[in-house]
Amino acid sequence: MAAKGLTWTTTSKKTAKGDFLSISSVKLYADGALGSRGACLLAPYADRPKETGFLLASPEKLEARIRKIGAKGFQVNTHCIGDSANRLVLSIYGKVLKGQNELRWRIEHAQVIHPQDFALFKQYQIIPSVQPTHATSDMFWAADRLGPERLRGAYAWKSLLAQNQVLAAGSDFPVEDINPLYGFHAAIARQNAEGKPAGGFQMENALTREEALRAMTIWAAYAAFEEKTKGTIQKGMVADFVLLEDDLMQAPLEALRSIKVSQTYLNGELVYQPLKKGAEE
Ligand SMILES: [Zn+2]
Repeated sequence: MAAKGLTWTTTSKKTAKGDFLSISSVKLYADGALGSRGACLLAPYADRPKETGFLLASPEKLEARIRKIGAKGFQVNTHCIGDSANRLVLSIYGKVLKGQNELRWRIEHAQVIHPQDFALFKQYQIIPSVQPTHATSDMFWAADRLGPERLRGAYAWKSLLAQNQVLAAGSDFPVEDINPLYGFHAAIARQNAEGKPAGGFQMENALTREEALRAMTIWAAYAAFEEKTKGTIQKGMVADFVLLEDDLMQAPLEALRSIKVSQTYLNGELVYQPLKKGAEE
């Protein structure tokens, strides 16, 4: 699409910002994934008692990278799945950030957290960035990997949100489906497309509809330093929004994934509208 009104600014450091692209953060990887047992755990896998997973770099290398990237003015966002990876990165962030700060560094996924470590998010103002469909993709086998006790600290969005009252939620496309309605449904119902399990998975960590909507809009924008232009519909913001055929805040859970989008606007311009029968082009 035409770069109408494109503005591009570079700061005194290395970051740059345009209307459709922002280069201001770096994603690092601390560990791998839970399914493949590449997530780094504090204690062995429940279904593989000799394995604890692994880090993708030594703690020293990871810390050096985090310091270097942070010093250039970039936001640091580190992928952490296992409770050991999360603890390590939270403690490195803590060493660098020292306490309350404005840097909005993130932990991507924040998937399995030891009960003692939730408070570190608050202590260093670290933003948990989660992907709700991860829970619904993993929930039928995550207990095999983690056992029932550790599972309580996994996909623990409500406990994460309680730390700073900010939680960013995304799709993790292309690993997961791009449709944000799937993430919204997973965040509040913690059920898959078939409505399983009945009653939802570990519902003490389900988000309310309002929390899920905020996590996917204003808090996601905040987590990318874009809350002054995106994430809410009000005067002065770029007009990025969709019109839906049903009310997200009221529709029955089982209807959420199939709500139809009637129009999509990007920066105030209509960019998507399904053709209606008999409608003129
Ligand atoms: Zn990741």
